[in-house]
Amino acid sequence: MKEIVILSGKGGVGKSSLTAALAHLLTEKGTRLTLADTDVDAPNLHIVLGAEFDRSRAVAASDKAIIDYEKCSRCMRCVKACAFDSIIGDNEPIIISYSCEGCGVCALVCPEEAVSVQPMENGKINFVTSGAVRVVAGELGIGESSSGRLVDIVKREARQEASLNGSDLLLTDGPPGIGCPVIAALKGSDYAILVSEPTPSALSDLQRITEVVRGFNIPAGAVLNRNDMDEKSARITRDWLIRNEVPLLGEIPYDPCLPQALARGALAVNMYPDAPSSLALRNLHKVVEGLLD
Ligand code: SF4
Ligand code: SF4
Repeated sequence: MKEIVILSGKGGVGKSSLTAALAHLLTEKGTRLTLADTDVDAPNLHIVLGAEFDRSRAVAASDKAIIDYEKCSRCMRCVKACAFDSIIGDNEPIIISYSCEGCGVCALVCPEEAVSVQPMENGKINFVTSGAVRVVAGELGIGESSSGRLVDIVKREARQEASLNGSDLLLTDGPPGIGCPVIAALKGSDYAILVSEPTPSALSDLQRITEVVRGFNIPAGAVLNRNDMDEKSARITRDWLIRNEVPLLGEIPYDPCLPQALARGALAVNMYPDAPSSLALRNLHKVVEGLLD
């Protein structure tokens, strides 16, 4: 089974819509695939696909400190020791759970062994079926910060799901940015598709994400979305890709059909098969099919 991850240095460049359209086109032509939605702060791939969750399971994606007040002697050493200011109080220690990083220093300094660090359920794994596509989506609880670990769990679950249903491809919709969740989504991938658009800020994000992907020696190619937004910026992006030997896999024009289909919970490649963006996506899907050989 091949693993391809779709990334963008930032959100809002059409990554999830592109992932959903590619998944649809690939399954239409017989590729068996499983999708992993690792944008755990804002999972919306199932919405783009017009599908609902089949089932969900709570997962522990972080560790948090807990105080046993029966043992606590109120010495307040843990308050002074916590570098994250996650324990407050003058006479009695109180843990601010959402900011606790689970580092365990408070447990180390506690003379009464009153502190323990325990796994905390702070996220969910959702399972979705959309036609022939199976989606495994992570969802981090509100105010939680351990998205890297949750992305790891989503990838593990998605691999299991893919192996159970005999998938040829695990396609991952990556989180935005270049931080720890992106690295968790990238790990183990055979190829990375980097989505950008022709603006100076999107180019800067593309440069940063390319550096990250290269750091892991994972081959990558780019897709220029809404390529007709600004011709000068599009030219600058294409020149940068050539100079840096990043293959341009495809270009998708801006197309009002895309938001129209999205507003109706449908895919533009289905609803408007002859629209310019749908034709460009069909060309791109052939290139992606070639990556599976
Ligand atoms: S586990 Fe670390 S971050 Fe959490 S309360 Fe203890 S010292 Fe602070
Ligand atoms: S270090 Fe231990 S005993 Fe001291 S206040 Fe914290 S929990 Fe209580």
